Amino acid sequence: MSYPCHSLLCMAVAELGEVEALEAQEPREPVYPSLSPSRAADFKTCPLLYRFRTIDRLPERPNPDQARGTLVHAVLERLFDLPPAERTHASATGLVTPAWERLVEGTPPLAELFAEGEREVFLASAGELLEGYFAVEDPSRLEPAERESLISAVVDERLLIRGYVDRLDVSPAGDLRVVDYKTGGAPREAFEARALFQLKFYALVLWRTRGVVPRVLRLLYLRDREICDYAPDPEELVRFERTLLALWQAIDRATAERDFRPKPSRLCDWCSHQALCPAYGGTPPPFPEPGDAAAEGRTRAGASESGTALIPQEDDRLTAGDEGEAPRSG
Ligand code: SF4
Repeated sequence: MSYPCHSLLCMAVAELGEVEALEAQEPREPVYPSLSPSRAADFKTCPLLYRFRTIDRLPERPNPDQARGTLVHAVLERLFDLPPAERTHASATGLVTPAWERLVEGTPPLAELFAEGEREVFLASAGELLEGYFAVEDPSRLEPAERESLISAVVDERLLIRGYVDRLDVSPAGDLRVVDYKTGGAPREAFEARALFQLKFYALVLWRTRGVVPRVLRLLYLRDREICDYAPDPEELVRFERTLLALWQAIDRATAERDFRPKPSRLCDWCSHQALCPAYGGTPPPFPEPGDAAAEGRTRAGASESGTALIPQEDDRLTAGDEGEAPRSG
């Protein structure tokens, strides 16, 4: 009688032990607190909103504007998989329904957004935004270096900043252009400051990791069919870095003191948590304790790690909680 399986098992266990011992000897990467542009902007907009989203991890239902934003981002990402000559409006329109089906597969509650017949109207509205895209750019003349790319950097040796860039173009001379698609249904001026904050955030990450200040930060407003270019400079990004660090300190202090105050503004119209907000007569839930089962349950049930959280993006699409954690639905 032989015991091949047992012997193999012993070898496997022994090898596993060696691997674990080797891993134990390897120096561990330091773990830093992290901040994404969305969450940083949340805190700036309203500290209580930051708390609801990041600490309480309260789920938020998607709305059609966010879903449309996510869908259009997904289509624009895939469009560049096609050969340049095939990157036409007709091709992009043809990508809409399959992209929507993939999104619904990943996030089933999206299917409940629309009653019978409404889905077609919704998909057609995504096509109109794509028409807006083709009015301002010709994708057959572009070859993006990166799409939906996760970028991150440690600043001041104490804070990890990270996020997903819609598109990064690199010229033959090595100049970087960061491109962000805006599809928002909300008035543009309400989110303009957030959009620029987000782009400076990415510019800082790219500068710190690649040693190059992006030449252009580009916002593409698909609904308005407009391009907004912004050229950052190093001094500005140094100031921005200080601002981010100060913001992180404020978040840290608010967390230690459990003091996240509401800051009402016109952005409250897009807040899912008015019923819990003291500014609207509500009462926030008890502050989650470490190991709080309810908050952890929410995390497990669909929040940031799973990639299926229904939490609004910094402007107009769905995201996976802290967008540094997982790719957005788009
Ligand atoms: S309703 Fe307004 S003030 Fe209240 S949490 Fe939301 S954004 Fe903040």
